[in-house]
Amino acid sequence: MLGRMEGRYDVVIVGGGPAGLAAAIGAREGGAGRCLVIDREPEAGGILLQCIHSGFGLHYFKQELTGPEYAERFLLDALEHDVDVVPDSYVCGIGLDSDGEKRVRVLSDHYGLRTVSCRAVVLCMGCRERTRGAIRIPGTRPSGVLTAGLAQKFTNMMGYLPGRRVAILGSGDIGLIMARRLVLEGCEVVGVFELMPYSNGLTRNVVQCLDDFGIPLNLSTTVTEIMGQDRLSGIKVAPVGPGFKPDMSSERTIDCDTLLLSIGLIPENELSQSLGISLDVTTKGPIVNSTLETSLPGVFACGNVLHVHDLVDFVTGEALRAGRHAGEYSRGIRRAQDNIKLVPGDNVRYCLPHSLSTGHEHQIFMRCKEPMKPCEIIVGDIMRKRLSFVVPAEMIMFRIKPDALEHFQGDTLRIDIRPIEK
Ligand SMILES: Cc1cc2nc3c(=O)[nH]c(=O)nc-3n(C[C@H](O)[C@H](O)[C@H](O)COP(=O)(O)OP(=O)(O)OC[C@H]3O[C@@H](n4cnc5c(N)ncnc54)[C@H](O)[C@@H]3O)c2cc1C
Repeated sequence: MLGRMEGRYDVVIVGGGPAGLAAAIGAREGGAGRCLVIDREPEAGGILLQCIHSGFGLHYFKQELTGPEYAERFLLDALEHDVDVVPDSYVCGIGLDSDGEKRVRVLSDHYGLRTVSCRAVVLCMGCRERTRGAIRIPGTRPSGVLTAGLAQKFTNMMGYLPGRRVAILGSGDIGLIMARRLVLEGCEVVGVFELMPYSNGLTRNVVQCLDDFGIPLNLSTTVTEIMGQDRLSGIKVAPVGPGFKPDMSSERTIDCDTLLLSIGLIPENELSQSLGISLDVTTKGPIVNSTLETSLPGVFACGNVLHVHDLVDFVTGEALRAGRHAGEYSRGIRRAQDNIKLVPGDNVRYCLPHSLSTGHEHQIFMRCKEPMKPCEIIVGDIMRKRLSFVVPAEMIMFRIKPDALEHFQGDTLRIDIRPIEK
């Protein structure tokens, strides 16, 4: 269904994936009168539309849904909240007026070139996959080498199989899910090859997508050469030693016609950069305060554009919050300024948000650098939380209650993950 595109809104949301749709609902709940969601694809729903497997919504709905089912619930809810959702429309720039008004430039199949003004913007552009160029695999440049998400789109939405005999480099969740998907479509998946000594996907995906289908996961192994002229004819793989250096004496050849790459995701922040928003070098997403507001007042960010999530349920929770704060901002309500900087310490790759304020409850998202078990999260001297294990593939989420911060005097709070002696 095509929504209206008026000249002025309280909140404009860039991207109509699960983050964008939830942010719109949150903005309405935060008091925004008029909200617009803009998405470049023919339908809202984002990456979920190609994720036809089940497993979505286990946390949020306590139900197992497919990606399109999960997206549909939020689209219908957004429409019930009287949000205008406009697909086939690309946000190509955002300008700022001296009075804080934002001007969103949209190139739309339906409405042509438009400028929409608004009080607050929520950035929900998601992320894109790293490609072969990012890791510079030596060899020829045949067809048959593609990212796992693109293979998912071909298979699930367009009805094309990417190949017949498939190898997968990287053990990210999309690669694991595609390993199972392609076996179900009659392909042979010869193995998943992972540089690290542990999987980069969720444990449940390793079990349900590889172990249950007898697909070997080769840890501490990488692809050392791509072979073939017009079409991929095979790859060479080798185990890696210290410093991830391939041990060429153990290199072996694997016959395959397809290589899927599942080697990481990059938040799509070109728009954020053009706005001069400060980015975090680790997450590659915006630096945000405790209301998920970026360094530019009135511009908020959530979902995969902020940091790469493994579960859409957490995207939803984060986006509802970002939307609510954007809705409040559009009504002139500003929360107290943050007075505490949150910094990653031992075995913490990143933590979000980047700052906190006393007097509020805070939800913290973070990832570890290395697997550790059992261990403890130590938040300055205000809080400790025991965990049976942490792994880089699984996001860690916990809350800091207002009373924990009540007597905190400093301006910097450090988070560490340390082992617990057995
Ligand atoms: C291939 C893949 C498989 C996944 N599988 C699972 C899974 O099995 N289970 C699970 O829980 N999670 C899964 N995830 C994670 C989950 O889908 C994501 O966390 C979630 O989709 C992120 O939501 P988002 O709205 O931030 O981004 P997206 O879903 O990527 O949505 C971003 C939207 O923004 C639009 N957009 C971007 N730039 C612009 C612009 N300039 N103008 C207009 N529109 C724009 C895009 O078209 C897109 O629709 C998967 C993710 C990927 C990439």
